[in-house]
Amino acid sequence: MRVLISGASVAGPTLAYWLARYGFDVTVVERSPAPRKSGGHAVDLFKPAMDIVEAMGVLEAIEAHDAGTDVISIHREGKPGLVDLPQALITSAVSQRHIEIMRDDLSEILYAASSPTAEYIFGDSIAALTEADAGVRVAFEAGPERRFDLVIGADGLHSHVRNLVFGPESGYSHWLGEYLAVASIPNYLDLKGRSLMFPQVNRLAGMYSATQVPDARAFFLFRTREPLEYHHRDVDRQKALLREVYEDVGWEVPRLLAEVSTTDAFYMDSITQLRMETWSKGRITLVGDAGYCPGPAVGGSTSLAVVGAYVLAGEIASAAGDHTRAYPACEAAMRDYVHRSRQLALTASDTLVPKTRLGLGALIHGARILGHLPPPFARTASRLVAARRLNIHDVFTVRDYQGLIRR
Ligand SMILES: Cc1cc2nc3c(=O)[nH]c(=O)nc-3n(C[C@H](O)[C@H](O)[C@H](O)COP(=O)(O)OP(=O)(O)OC[C@H]3O[C@@H](n4cnc5c(N)ncnc54)[C@H](O)[C@@H]3O)c2cc1C
Repeated sequence: MRVLISGASVAGPTLAYWLARYGFDVTVVERSPAPRKSGGHAVDLFKPAMDIVEAMGVLEAIEAHDAGTDVISIHREGKPGLVDLPQALITSAVSQRHIEIMRDDLSEILYAASSPTAEYIFGDSIAALTEADAGVRVAFEAGPERRFDLVIGADGLHSHVRNLVFGPESGYSHWLGEYLAVASIPNYLDLKGRSLMFPQVNRLAGMYSATQVPDARAFFLFRTREPLEYHHRDVDRQKALLREVYEDVGWEVPRLLAEVSTTDAFYMDSITQLRMETWSKGRITLVGDAGYCPGPAVGGSTSLAVVGAYVLAGEIASAAGDHTRAYPACEAAMRDYVHRSRQLALTASDTLVPKTRLGLGALIHGARILGHLPPPFARTASRLVAARRLNIHDVFTVRDYQGLIRR
């Protein structure tokens, strides 16, 4: 059976790896001209995703690319010094296993694991999809038309496959009231293993670096009353909007904005959640951010993408390629995890970007208390706090599909 996957970032290569191991012929088409190379932003893998990458034999490579953030340092308005919080205190509260890695490093490792057994086409995109003759006819923008048994969109939050099959994104995306901007800038503070942040009511600014990258990232998370008006390709307008939001903020922010104005590596997007009743239609389905992004940077979406890809491959193999059984089974297996990730995204965005001075005080006070407790007490305290709402990953049971492996 031939399967086409659109997108070669996280979900795409993970899915390609497992489908090939179950004996399917896999083709991956990626719009970018080449595999991703070190860069991008930091992402998180939590326990179920770590268990899966371990089963893929790439855990060592992933650990070797650990972003290396040990401490989160919080600047407080008008106060000297920083409040230091060991990152492990937060992540161990969320999950027993965690690693932070740059997205492009992860993507490169997953690509290397899957490329020996899957066909990769770079620099092309699906132009049209037609279900016919017990298969899907696929027209490509550059390459010749081909036929596949199944087509899977792993092409991210603004998925092209989803647009073609389910219609415009506006029908499924829910804005959480916030925006996220990230820029590559020189590591002028020589940050090593430390992430700096300055939370205020309705806005957060910060900077981090990673062991694997020579530069740093400036990041901004902010809330607005109304959606901002800009075109997604109009970077100058996006930078101007960012300056407006942060123009009166002190600390390192004027320097960060100055660096942002000169960098080419800039990304800004609304924090939106995709809410689809079902993300499959006929022989076509979606995986990762394309189908159920809970919100970039706030909902553990990278882990969700890895787990979603693994489960989809396993269910397709369990059903011997019968999509009428496999897709509903996959959606049923993922639905709770997706739902909990959405809830977590709402909690995380409200906590990280407090809406009131009271919320801001609670965030900083909580960080100070945790940072001052001896480590074992601090870990217990943060777990107790987290157990209520944050512990969404470890409760997911990764089903064992090992018996279906053919090669
Ligand atoms: C600024 C930022 C910060 C983030 N921070 C975090 C974090 O701290 N923790 C975390 O867990 N997650 C974070 N995320 C989210 C994380 O990056 C995604 O959840 C994860 O990458 C999802 O993987 P994916 O494979 O589903 O989609 P993506 O990584 O979005 O990949 C989609 C792929 O499809 C390709 N593509 C797009 N259109 C087409 C087309 N027409 N044809 C072919 N290919 C196409 C793209 O080039 C890309 O390679 C962040 C995201 C952003 C943007």
